[in-house]
Amino acid sequence: MKNIKLITFDLDDTFWDIGPVIIKAELETREWLQEKVGDIQWGSLSDFLNYRKELIKENNSLEWDISLLRKEIYRRKLDEVVMDKIKIDSIINEAYQNFIDKRHAVTFYEGVFDAIKRLSKKYHLGVLTNGNADIFRFDIGKFFDFSISSLDVKSNKPAEPHFKKALENYKNISYNQILHVGDHQINDIYGAHILGINTLWFNNKNVEWSLEIAEPNKFNNWKECVSLIEDIYE
Ligand SMILES: [Mg+2]
Repeated sequence: MKNIKLITFDLDDTFWDIGPVIIKAELETREWLQEKVGDIQWGSLSDFLNYRKELIKENNSLEWDISLLRKEIYRRKLDEVVMDKIKIDSIINEAYQNFIDKRHAVTFYEGVFDAIKRLSKKYHLGVLTNGNADIFRFDIGKFFDFSISSLDVKSNKPAEPHFKKALENYKNISYNQILHVGDHQINDIYGAHILGINTLWFNNKNVEWSLEIAEPNKFNNWKECVSLIEDIYE
């Protein structure tokens, strides 16, 4: 029997499906920008990915500061069509606000709220995300002690800083008393596993396990989450 005291959760693709939300937020923000400044040549997806690479090369911190990365991408586009630098700054900030609001227009998977509510009665709960969603924007946020983003620790999972910072919130909890729940095989499961953290893999897309380490316990429906944790750890 293991003595779990803290459960940490990934957000994107663990609590909700993020792909369509980001695409919609991006397209609507682009439209908003064009209404503001006129036509912008956005380029193809691979242009966009190359932009990201170039920007990260110029400034490594953009790898974990994805909000600034997005703003810098907007800046490049606006530089091509707007002359006034001060005006560009204010448009970027407004565009980003626009994007981030829409980025939170997520639909939680069925059963998440109930599972988190029940788990919060027995465990400390926290969020560890590489993204820029803020769990405290949602009603469910009240069940969490803390949330750690890549910006907070200047690093991305699977690196240790997210996990290490989670422990800072408590005096008497060690890695082997944490259970981390997430969808990503490397960022969530491998990253936690090599530190001695227990793992639970959310695999609602039923993908095959592809890492060398043993396949962890998994679930594909949030309605099964609490009883699975009870079976394994209680
Ligand atoms: Mg994820």
